[in-house]
Amino acid sequence: MSAYSSIEWTEATWNPVTGCSKVSKGCKNCYAERFALRLQAAGHPHYVNGFKLTTHHDALRVPLMWRKPRLVFVCSMSDLFHEEVPLSFIRQVFDVMRMAKHHTFQVLTKRSSRLAELAGELPWPDNVWAGVTIESGEYLSRANDLRTVPAKVKFLSLEPLLGPIPHLPLQGIQWVIVGGESGPSARPMSAGWVRDIRDQCSNANVAFFFKQWGGLRKRDAGRVLDGRTWDEMPHGTARLQSTPAPRTWTAPATYRTSPSACSRTPAT
Ligand code: SF4
Repeated sequence: MSAYSSIEWTEATWNPVTGCSKVSKGCKNCYAERFALRLQAAGHPHYVNGFKLTTHHDALRVPLMWRKPRLVFVCSMSDLFHEEVPLSFIRQVFDVMRMAKHHTFQVLTKRSSRLAELAGELPWPDNVWAGVTIESGEYLSRANDLRTVPAKVKFLSLEPLLGPIPHLPLQGIQWVIVGGESGPSARPMSAGWVRDIRDQCSNANVAFFFKQWGGLRKRDAGRVLDGRTWDEMPHGTARLQSTPAPRTWTAPATYRTSPSACSRTPAT
């Protein structure tokens, strides 16, 4: 379990579930898969199954031990609404989020139909945000599923953005994140696609967060768009803090010294 995250739009990650299976085009170069296999090789106790879906009861209470309030990306190494995650376990995850009122939890999924199907059976306190990934115009129906969820903040993650989305369905959406794919097999993203989405968000008064250009060298490409960074957060919510959360697991030195774009790129 890594409690620290350098993912730009969050402060910590919490992984009561690890492992997943590919569901759409955005999954092709899934960072979580690569990262899970590295952690398995490094001997991390939560990755003995590699990328096979695994629930971790011993990780459930971790956020309750963090005293300082923070934004927490839930299941950055999986998809909480994967069909193999039992409803009883999802309920336990939500129970912890409900108890940990001092944190804000960001639940992001590509399994929007299961999210919509189960939403009515789960509590949705104000500190639990719900989001879906939409990597291209093929997957706009995920936004319709998201709109049925009674979360106070609903958000879209357009990462990796694989094509233009000229008619983004923004009704009922408070936040949009855009990012290009990173890593050795990164697929290109057009600046025109990003500008168009930014302008759609501006016109609809939806907060816009530009995470990265991506590419082979993500750091070099940066995250500046038209002369500035775009770090908007949902209106009425706290700003991101700059102080990272502490780690709760220390990787072997061989792993720590390996540069990895994976650790800075969200999956799901
Ligand atoms: S973790 Fe996310 S990107 Fe990776 S396979 Fe699962 S749904 Fe796809």
